[in-house]
Amino acid sequence: MTDLIHSTAADTAAAIAKGEVSAVEVAQAHLDRIGAVDEKVHAFLHVDTEGALAAARAVDDRRAKGEELGPLAGVPLALKDVFTTKGVPTTAGSRILEGWVPPYDATLTSRLKQAGVVILGKTNMDEFAMGSSTENSAYGPTGNPWDLSRIPGGSGGGSAAALAAYEAPLAIGTDTGGSIRQPGAVTGTVGVKPTYGTVSRYGLIAFSSSLDQGGPCARTVLDAALLHEAIAGHDPLDSTSIDTPVLPLVEAARNGAHGDLKGLRVGVVKEFSGEGYQPGVMQRFNESVEVLRALGATVVELSCPSFTYALPAYYLIAPSEASSNLARFDAMRYGLRVGDDGSRSAEDVTALTRAAGFGPEVKRRIILGTYALSSGYYDAYYGSAQKVRTLITREFDRAFAEVDVLVSPTTPTTAFPIGERADDPMAMYLADLCTIPSNLAGNAAMSVPCGLAPEDNLPVGLQIIAPALADDRLYRVGAAVEAALNDKWGHPLLEEAPAL
Ligand code: GLN
Repeated sequence: MTDLIHSTAADTAAAIAKGEVSAVEVAQAHLDRIGAVDEKVHAFLHVDTEGALAAARAVDDRRAKGEELGPLAGVPLALKDVFTTKGVPTTAGSRILEGWVPPYDATLTSRLKQAGVVILGKTNMDEFAMGSSTENSAYGPTGNPWDLSRIPGGSGGGSAAALAAYEAPLAIGTDTGGSIRQPGAVTGTVGVKPTYGTVSRYGLIAFSSSLDQGGPCARTVLDAALLHEAIAGHDPLDSTSIDTPVLPLVEAARNGAHGDLKGLRVGVVKEFSGEGYQPGVMQRFNESVEVLRALGATVVELSCPSFTYALPAYYLIAPSEASSNLARFDAMRYGLRVGDDGSRSAEDVTALTRAAGFGPEVKRRIILGTYALSSGYYDAYYGSAQKVRTLITREFDRAFAEVDVLVSPTTPTTAFPIGERADDPMAMYLADLCTIPSNLAGNAAMSVPCGLAPEDNLPVGLQIIAPALADDRLYRVGAAVEAALNDKWGHPLLEEAPAL
């Protein structure tokens, strides 16, 4: 085992199980690292030192009693601040929830606790998960550990940065349009959007309910698989949760790392290239396709023409659902309340609170969504977007009749400088060009690091897309690519946090 903070989750758990190190020592090492670097990175909104050490002590006690420990017992994790945590502040990156302490755990939070995972704290994010850079957080941006003047992706930039800065070996994100995969790509880490409905949304503060999906973030494919298995599974508290057995993801990752890809059919989506794609990103992507071929896969080019309309359809559907979901922040139920001095009506207090508590991007989306859903425009905007969504799903079905997985760059460019796209929402939205179709269709997708772009030495992500309920394919292919690239370079991509 390497030192405590650079170790993988798999190795850390094994060392704890064997008694080579205690869970408390592991937790303390990560808390110390957070203390040393997070002032610069700002991955965390809240560090739960007491809670983390108590959870670690509980794992050590169970081990001392000879109890069987799960495969992630004692491993620290950074949790996106969009999942409720009983007794621990939860803000979703918004002022409107400042000071709110949830009375209950999200299902995902309780599954992590049951698995003995040590939750270090809550990570920074774009407000209500709206964004691609974490600059929309009401609490200030997060820096990319590869270059602190650049964005760590979004909305889950805090979770990805915590991994790349070695503040935690595991993290949780949510992916509505790319917020797990895009931060994974630009920080050189692994991020997986599971099939919609396979990881519970109970206690996930809703942005766009038909798209939101929690999932694992890690530095290796195997670690992501271990975390994915721990959080997946049917939940009667979530009405969209699918009652299906959890797939053997860890087995797929282990087999993938040691096997070849003979018999695998890979489709390259033609629409995910061309204008706007950085040359170094395309270079690394094309090399990854060659790696897949060398591993025995057959590669064909495919066209999915309606993917071109995914972005506009998403920016009607997601804001429409958001405008409805965010109506619950009425100043009466949670967090902030402005102007409640006895002289104003409830409506006025609600209006003042929402004006003060929501940031500009959230307001933009509420206005957009309310407009798209208004009676005169519903069919023209929301209705059309839903039709496009159906077309995209059908195109995926057609593609998956021919190939087992699709591949593309995860993002058109590497991490851009903080501030560069802040005043240009359209440029910001383009960061999710390749990731959004899978949210609209509900299938599974992964971003795995595939090298550094030669022009800026920043990480590039390879996106692997699988059909719904075939998440295990992502791990087989992802682990094979990861192993082949590590062999090629003689080291894992993320062997240090370059800017720290
Ligand atoms: N960047 C996209 C948006 O702003 C996706 C966000 C997400 O996946 N949460 O909506």
